[in-house]
Amino acid sequence: MQEITVVGGGFAGLTAAITAAESGARVALYEAHHTLGGRARTAEGPYRTNEGPHALYNRGPHWTWLKQRGLLGPMAALPPLEGARFRFRRGGALRRTPPLALLRIARRRAEDAPVDTDFMTWATGVAGESGARAAAHFMGVALFHHDPGSLSAAFVQERLRRTTALPPEAHYPRGGWGQVIERMAARAWDLGVRIETTSRVDALPERHGPVIVATSLDAARRLIGDDTLRWPSGRTTLVDLALRARHGDPFVVSDLDAPGWLERFTAQDPSLAPKGQSLIQGQLPTAPDESRADGVARAEALLDLGFPGWRERTVWRREALANGRTGAVDLPGTTWRDRPAIDRGDGVYLAGDQVAAPGLLCEVAFNSGIEAVSLALRDIKYAGTRTPLDLKQS
Ligand SMILES: Cc1cc2nc3c(=O)[nH]c(=O)nc-3n(C[C@H](O)[C@H](O)[C@H](O)COP(=O)(O)OP(=O)(O)OC[C@H]3O[C@@H](n4cnc5c(N)ncnc54)[C@H](O)[C@@H]3O)c2cc1C
Repeated sequence: MQEITVVGGGFAGLTAAITAAESGARVALYEAHHTLGGRARTAEGPYRTNEGPHALYNRGPHWTWLKQRGLLGPMAALPPLEGARFRFRRGGALRRTPPLALLRIARRRAEDAPVDTDFMTWATGVAGESGARAAAHFMGVALFHHDPGSLSAAFVQERLRRTTALPPEAHYPRGGWGQVIERMAARAWDLGVRIETTSRVDALPERHGPVIVATSLDAARRLIGDDTLRWPSGRTTLVDLALRARHGDPFVVSDLDAPGWLERFTAQDPSLAPKGQSLIQGQLPTAPDESRADGVARAEALLDLGFPGWRERTVWRREALANGRTGAVDLPGTTWRDRPAIDRGDGVYLAGDQVAAPGLLCEVAFNSGIEAVSLALRDIKYAGTRTPLDLKQS
């Protein structure tokens, strides 16, 4: 029987490996890092941070896929909405509600928004310029892009609908995303997937069967040697803080004057920081001509408004710039179908969050991982071998 090789052990690679092994295929997975998880890793130590604010949205297909296999695990309950202390910066001041025009735009169906027009133009026609601007800035939360209004209206509106849905779609695996990764890794082991960590693949392996390249698109471009493997993504400054807890701190501060988001993760999951401390993660979309320091300055301005006395209360702090690591964004005139195709020919397949598969953020990685496996199994069949599925069925 041919073996399926998976390169990369993040969500995409683990999804592909599990799906292929469940179909009866022999699978080997190679991961460069010493642990699995990629961008879904959760930091060790007292502050259980993910790489920036991370939420799983429960209407995506990945939710069902994980749930059916018992891999979701316990979810931290969101603080009740009425007491959740959402705050919005508007006109330089902190407010309790977003503008009504933003809500008017959010009510429009995603299908109403055109692919070929930018979001700002379309949303201005729906509810006026200031509402459109506020909606675009709000979408920094799920787009990680410095100018969400310049992206395809259809792309942004689909995400605006999902991030403003009630009850909220955003869910938080208790203990961080790393817990889901651990359960996925255990499932892969149980199915007999051969997992080799600290194993960077520098060239495509001598082919024994299909290869699924489940790395970031940048790494795939280098590995496959195909310079066309490119697609726009976000660029965002990440600020993580542990503060001495203070009664009355907000749960979320969303910047509607410019894209930016602060979230107090211990509001839903106190296990993420030592007792008596609040873990706050911020992401401030940062333009190509801006520096990390610019992003940090905006984070600090938001903290000044939302978290009184935060400087004196800080016990731990970390900053980073995530460039091209937050998944695909679609420009006007493009949809996910225009992104780099999963099937690269010659038994090589791509999976990851910047390839031609639908979904929001990491859902693209799950969907492409599953699609890559179904194409790989078809490949084995057409190569004249009995597929693992045939063997299972006979
Ligand atoms: C700041 C930030 C916030 C985010 N927030 C959210 C969110 O709220 N919700 C959401 O759904 N998604 C979010 N995401 C996106 C989500 O993290 C990713 O979509 C997802 O983790 C991508 O998984 P992946 O498997 O495609 O890629 P990765 O996680 O990047 O996995 C690729 C793996 O391949 C390995 N690798 C690379 N090159 C090689 C090689 N040559 N040989 C072997 N191994 C190799 C890497 O070490 C890595 O482990 C966020 C991302 C960031 C950065």
